[in-house]
Amino acid sequence: MEDGRCYPGGILKVDSFINHQMDPDLMVQIGEEFARRFADSGVNKILTIEASGIAPAIMAGASMHLPVVFAKKKKPKTLENMLVTTVHSFTKDRDYTVCISNDFLRPGDKIVFIDDFLAFGNAALGIIDLCRQSGAEIVGMGFIIEKTFQQGAEKLAAERIRIESLARVASLDDCKITLADQ
Ligand code: 5GP
Repeated sequence: MEDGRCYPGGILKVDSFINHQMDPDLMVQIGEEFARRFADSGVNKILTIEASGIAPAIMAGASMHLPVVFAKKKKPKTLENMLVTTVHSFTKDRDYTVCISNDFLRPGDKIVFIDDFLAFGNAALGIIDLCRQSGAEIVGMGFIIEKTFQQGAEKLAAERIRIESLARVASLDDCKITLADQ
């Protein structure tokens, strides 16, 4: 509430503790909280997308002693064994390619996807596509911040995905942060 900054178009900047400068003590606690919430999920692998998802994902993986895989935003030159999907970025207003080697996303994997923000759910839908292509199962998704006014959660509910959001922002109207669970 103190350090977040609102920008026009429903964007919340948290550059002082998540997206640019990072607060490691907070990240450790975030990882522990995701570990606590997904303890009963049967997860065997954490998945995220570079770059901002990597910090909370690695902390969750460290807490659960599970491997962490990050999907890459640039297609490597060698496309062998690559699963590819397209994601629309709402903050950058453009499409980008996300890919992952199917050496690291296997049939039978039980995946928890971790990311910094849930907005319209486009990144999460891309991950669902990659998991479908590989035969991996998604057992949950965890977000540090969910913006409940941008309907990502509804899209994921339609896909029957379990969501855990640590902070839920209901509105950024008038440059004021209003939490959903106050
Ligand atoms: P979605 O795909 O759910 O529409 O958007 C999620 C992705 O966009 C996240 O990975 C995050 O990097 C970025 N994003 C969406 N909304 C915000 C926001 O308000 N602030 C920041 N810093 N990133 C956001």
